[in-house]
Amino acid sequence: MNRNKEFAELLSITRKFLEQERDMGIKEFMQQGDEKRAESGALDDLAMKIKDCQNCKLGRTRTNLVFGAGNPKAELMFVGEGPGFDEDLSGIPFVGKAGQLLTKIIESIELTREEVYISNIVKCHPMRDPTHPEMRGNDRPPTQDEVAQCLPILFKQIGIIEPKIICTLGSPATRALLNLSEGIGKLRGKFYDFYPPYGKFGEPIKVIPTYHPAYLLRDPTRKREVWEDMKKIKKAMTSISPH
Ligand code: SF4
Repeated sequence: MNRNKEFAELLSITRKFLEQERDMGIKEFMQQGDEKRAESGALDDLAMKIKDCQNCKLGRTRTNLVFGAGNPKAELMFVGEGPGFDEDLSGIPFVGKAGQLLTKIIESIELTREEVYISNIVKCHPMRDPTHPEMRGNDRPPTQDEVAQCLPILFKQIGIIEPKIICTLGSPATRALLNLSEGIGKLRGKFYDFYPPYGKFGEPIKVIPTYHPAYLLRDPTRKREVWEDMKKIKKAMTSISPH
């Protein structure tokens, strides 16, 4: 089975599982989302519930689980791939060099990190060599299984926050939410509908993929395209009504 097909199947299993949970009436997060805009209490509760998560092998080697950070009522959410070295040490998403660039990207549309919400598709640091967590440059993308195990947490975060727009950073995050196989170069800069399994059903959230800031550090010539994507987000924020 090729990797894309295998990945799509894993995500499909995750979605089916969440839909079954919903159909069986497991609504603790949905109700909170239905009744009013998200509250930090619901996110805190979720963070508490998963703080000792060992659902995939990344749980055995992390220093800190990196849940997410920002405004629990954010209209704009950024979703990256997974924590790196600095994030694993601090427990805060996007604090390394790529994170500093993400802060500038957010500020380019006159927002702050505190006004948006930032998270990842996996909450623990994927390492090429987990026997050396003290080593920088030891990052790797999450495996399909790790993503499938962790994705329900992100879906619950989205269900609580109910953002107007989600900006996915890079291919893995885009593929996890949209289940599209094209590369980020083709997908970026356009809006897609994402139907979250938690939160208000029937109302899609707009997802716009762009390049991951770590990729921009390697290829700064791509920054211009990201600024263009940010301008689209800024424009869309004023035209999309709140959930
Ligand atoms: S990456 Fe996600 S599923 Fe895996 S142990 Fe961490 S929180 Fe749990």
